[in-house]
Amino acid sequence: MATLQAITFDLDDTLWDNQGVMARTEEGHYRWLLTAFNVWLAERGEPPLALSYEEGLQDYATRRQRLASEVPKRRGDFTWLRLRALEDQLQAHGVAKSTALMWSAAAMNEFHRLRVQVTPHPEVDALLHELRKHYRLAAITNGNIHLARQPLAHHFPVAIAAGELLAPKPDPTPFLTALAKLDAVPERAMHVGDSWEEDVLPAQRLGMHAVWINETGDQALPERVTRIAHVKELPEVLAWHGGRRL
Ligand SMILES: [Mg+2]
Repeated sequence: MATLQAITFDLDDTLWDNQGVMARTEEGHYRWLLTAFNVWLAERGEPPLALSYEEGLQDYATRRQRLASEVPKRRGDFTWLRLRALEDQLQAHGVAKSTALMWSAAAMNEFHRLRVQVTPHPEVDALLHELRKHYRLAAITNGNIHLARQPLAHHFPVAIAAGELLAPKPDPTPFLTALAKLDAVPERAMHVGDSWEEDVLPAQRLGMHAVWINETGDQALPERVTRIAHVKELPEVLAWHGGRRL
């Protein structure tokens, strides 16, 4: 096998566990919005929004789903969907458009502040530090984490927000974009991710090697696909591939 040139990584649930972060971010930025906006209204002698936290959060989710089906090309652009849903919700409750735009943008600032508070698996920083000496690295995410502010950003000279490219994985575009920027060919590149549909299959179809992060499973895998339970096992895969030992 030709030596690997490049490794691309999914982020959420590959380099860190994302579930708790998303729940805290979802609840946190919306609670922040209602609280801060109501304080702002009170300072102006205006009544608070006629919207409880629970019904507001549910309505916000419903509006995002509706927008995603009405504007399918934006379905993976989660920041756009959230901004538009918040703007629409505030305006539906009688808030002037300019005020709705300002507060929605402020709420998304808070969203991004919370969203980057991920805790990478403890082995990952040293692992990426070593890999950078031998391979060109990229991050490819469907998530809307702020790519320059996430804690591992310094390891990735190339970082692709696939949703904002309007081509979320499994679309091949983010993979091809990353490989072009890394000046690497698919046959000499590997993608590492936890999603069978969004990471493993599209990379494998392009001719890349793929490493599937999945705790269990003993099914037969397609050619060029390897399963590991945790990203910390990646050096063993690279050694087994005939790559440089770490
Ligand atoms: Mg993932």
